[in-house]
Amino acid sequence: MAKPVILTVDDDPEVLQAVARDLRREYGDRFRVIRAESGAIAMEALQQLKLRSDPVALFLVDQRMPQMSGVEFLEQALQLFPDTKRALLTAYADTDAAIRAINTTQIDYYLMKPWDPPEERLYPVLDDLLDDWLVKFRPPFEGIRVIGNRWSPHSHQIKDFLARNQVPYQWLDIELSEEAQQLVTYANCDRLSLPLVLLPDGSSLLQPTNIQVAEKIGLRTQADKPFYDLIIVGGGPAGLAAAVYGASEGLSTVMIEREAPGGQAGTSSRIENYLGFPVGLSGSDLARRAVDQARRFGVEILTPQEVSSIRVEDPYRFIQLASGTEISCHAMILALGVSWRRLSVPGLDRLTGAGVYYGAAQTEALSCKDEDVYIVGGANSAGQAAMYFSKYARHVTMLVRGESLTKSMSQYLIDQIAATP
Ligand SMILES: Cc1cc2nc3c(=O)[nH]c(=O)nc-3n(C[C@H](O)[C@H](O)[C@H](O)COP(=O)(O)OP(=O)(O)OC[C@H]3O[C@@H](n4cnc5c(N)ncnc54)[C@H](O)[C@@H]3O)c2cc1C
Repeated sequence: MAKPVILTVDDDPEVLQAVARDLRREYGDRFRVIRAESGAIAMEALQQLKLRSDPVALFLVDQRMPQMSGVEFLEQALQLFPDTKRALLTAYADTDAAIRAINTTQIDYYLMKPWDPPEERLYPVLDDLLDDWLVKFRPPFEGIRVIGNRWSPHSHQIKDFLARNQVPYQWLDIELSEEAQQLVTYANCDRLSLPLVLLPDGSSLLQPTNIQVAEKIGLRTQADKPFYDLIIVGGGPAGLAAAVYGASEGLSTVMIEREAPGGQAGTSSRIENYLGFPVGLSGSDLARRAVDQARRFGVEILTPQEVSSIRVEDPYRFIQLASGTEISCHAMILALGVSWRRLSVPGLDRLTGAGVYYGAAQTEALSCKDEDVYIVGGANSAGQAAMYFSKYARHVTMLVRGESLTKSMSQYLIDQIAATP
């Protein structure tokens, strides 16, 4: 976690330098001291800190500044960082204003200039304020934040991509979260051009593609070499298993996956019939373990990357990637699996990703808390999704065109559904 910030503001450059020096000497090992010459500059700095999720422990602010007084600055700063401790630095003539501010702006303390020696006139007060702040401080979420609209297919696509690649993120709904609305304003972003992805390094992506997100989170999308012993197209269980076996035999191996390693299995909320996992495991756990195993044997994994064409020129095989690059190999395995069958109902395409989802239980279940969910289908994927949604939704209804579940669903899932009220 980044060190919490102490922000000091003073329009007199010499005073600002002196106070920052004294703060750094005493607190520099635990806090980051930032200085600003005016309230306006300090507000800009605060907006950037908010976008990066950096915590701010203390404001130490001069009262008498042109344009924006210390109290006026604190009133605005409070809206961004309500829990930050607030101290005013005042000259003798301003003590009345400072005392009034204690009541109106909830100032925690006012200190008199000059503060020499700081060991007596500055540090004891600030120690007390910082200790108090630390006791109540809850570290902010430090990972990726996705701000968007729940009913936007693009927002759903980004969430689904991160979830399937096992990248933790925080979802902030622009309709429901005040924090999301603030962050969008500070990032100078239009509410209509969401989703906005905020990364821990302070950078952001507006309406990104999956590839742009992948590059930011360190996924590899381009091959290291022009030639491999073995190329595997598709990163579902079959592709991953082939990659592990190929690389473990010493073959230089690359696996190319267009969505996320794990394939269909990666979207399963609970796999209970896979050998070696007696209590079951989630599809994302299975995918993570398989990816770790493949990487340990030196498999190169390109994702998200699509193979657009293949050709054979014996004894070599050539693969064209969607990015335009061509790579070749001795042996190629196609492990392309299957895609969802689409439901052919008028108007449904328009709502896909915006209330209608294909196999998105893990990404969407939390958003369906206390809502009604309808699941179309009567085989194992539908059964698993029904069980998973039932933990969150108020009511789950399965729409099954067959006469009974027994023809299409495993018995263990039928039993679980029957036992769920
Ligand atoms: C929700 C759900 C739950 C399931 N639960 C279970 C269970 O509990 N037990 C069980 O035994 N089975 C379960 N299954 C079935 C199981 O997941 C599949 O049988 C298994 O994933 C098939 O593996 P595969 O590698 O052959 O194909 P897939 O998993 O379909 O993987 C193929 C991969 O190839 C990629 N691909 C395709 N074309 C290209 C291209 N041109 N370029 C790059 N990549 C490409 C796709 O993106 C995909 O990731 C479940 C399936 C689903 C959907």
